[in-house]
Amino acid sequence: MEKISLVVPCYDEEESIKIFYNEVLKYEKQIDAEIEFCFVDDGSKDHTLEIFRMLREKDKRVHYVSFSRNFGKESGLLAGLELATGDYVATMDVDLQDPPYLLPEMYKAVKEEGYDCVATKRSTRKGEPPIRSFFARIFYHLINKMSTTEIVNGARDYRFMTRQMVDAVIADGEYNRFSKGIFSWVGFKTKWISYENIERSAGKTKWSFWKLFKYAIEGILAYSTVPLSFASFLGVILFLISIVSLIFIIVRRLIFGDPVAGWASIVSILLLIGGIVMLCLGIIGLYVSKIYLETKKRQIYIIKEKA
Ligand code: UDP
Ligand code: MG
Repeated sequence: MEKISLVVPCYDEEESIKIFYNEVLKYEKQIDAEIEFCFVDDGSKDHTLEIFRMLREKDKRVHYVSFSRNFGKESGLLAGLELATGDYVATMDVDLQDPPYLLPEMYKAVKEEGYDCVATKRSTRKGEPPIRSFFARIFYHLINKMSTTEIVNGARDYRFMTRQMVDAVIADGEYNRFSKGIFSWVGFKTKWISYENIERSAGKTKWSFWKLFKYAIEGILAYSTVPLSFASFLGVILFLISIVSLIFIIVRRLIFGDPVAGWASIVSILLLIGGIVMLCLGIIGLYVSKIYLETKKRQIYIIKEKA
């Protein structure tokens, strides 16, 4: 019999885990395969780990790893994928925003319709603060203009994949992980399913606006080098402008003499150029910092307990 592993990263989710577990069991009979739970405790400070131990006690299909501290959802996903032994793997959130009722349909699509992967996206951003939707739209527009890897707007991390695709994702040993990019970058034939946004079953979201903003920058840095070219482009433009204005000033000096004036304009031009130089240095700095972290080859997560 084939096996499906459910990879579920959890961070302070004591309220949601059991609800999730029971909900999945409801759809188990509709799937003609064995289910395996691969929970990841991402350094929770509540009773998440105790609940895993308890579930494991009564159900041997439950496996878990527990991190030594919070490493973030991306690390959790990788650890879960590495823990999974199934022929198929589904990554999902524990808060039921990734509804388990889709699992039978996803399994069918991969098994019978010849897809390697079924991915999901939200059809609407209902229930989300308008300002957040606004910035999300800008982000997806920008990144898709700048990167050759397609990052689908509204895509969730709810995916059903074949073993072959999972192995490809794991083999991509980047330190700066941006799953939405990696899943798309590895390729394979993907079917998209969309559904209405669902409210969290319990607990609350760990994503503040600031965290999302940083995540968006991560995505751009990881999948595009356009900002670097932008910096050089700006440099070239400024160089051309300065040549033209130099010629203009010399010619004016020769024709009209040298009326002492223009202190204000010189200062503003200095400030402008200084600002642009700092901006470009900053962009280069961001990439250098990523190279720095990547070459350090730090561990992506540290496991404290495993079962
Ligand atoms: N999560 C995690 N580590 C973190 C933050 C979140 O493992 O540092 C997990 C969380 O427990 C949940 C999933 O990632 O299962 C999605 O998080 P959340 O529901 O807070 O995000 P949202 O759905 O609001 O985007
Ligand atoms: Mg959620």
